[in-house]
Amino acid sequence: MAMHIHPAVDAGIPPEQAGFAGGTLTCRCATDPVTVRVGAQVSHNHVCGCTKCWKPEGALFSQIAVVGRDKVEVTANGRKLKVVDPTATIQRYACTGCGVHLYGRIENDRHAFHGLDFVHTELSGEPGWAPPTFAAFVSSIIESGADPARMGEVRGRLEELGLPPYDALSPPLMDALAVQAAKLAGTLYKGS
Ligand SMILES: [Zn+2]
Ligand SMILES: [Zn+2]
Repeated sequence: MAMHIHPAVDAGIPPEQAGFAGGTLTCRCATDPVTVRVGAQVSHNHVCGCTKCWKPEGALFSQIAVVGRDKVEVTANGRKLKVVDPTATIQRYACTGCGVHLYGRIENDRHAFHGLDFVHTELSGEPGWAPPTFAAFVSSIIESGADPARMGEVRGRLEELGLPPYDALSPPLMDALAVQAAKLAGTLYKGS
């Protein structure tokens, strides 16, 4: 059985283009699509197995990256956007017409990732985005209905694609969350 990790990686992962400086994300509405201008290259692009990120039809994972929130601007039909879950840490702005998530934003300024927006680069036709480099929240795909007996196969495929599988975020991002937690607790290492 074919395994659909995500359309942007299943046929091989396109390389990043040096000097790439962003593009325009467009939702899937045939008329009056929402467009969002991302004015910079993204970081920490990855595939994500959580139940909250938007996934294209048939994909086991979403593909999601971060970029400075000051680089994200809604450029058309923003009236169609609505926050999926206002109580969630990440406010995910979805198109009420087609269901695609255009960007996610953290409003809590004490959060480690405050200042970064979450975007799906596949919504842009421009080639050159920084490609995904790991897989996050892999075990969570079971919560969306994936067969638990095939998880070894899923992790094997991710390794084959060069996307090390993690059941949380990648180690650098987990470290960033822990650094912020230590700062807030006053326990951050100060050297000896
Ligand atoms: Zn739409
Ligand atoms: Zn996710």
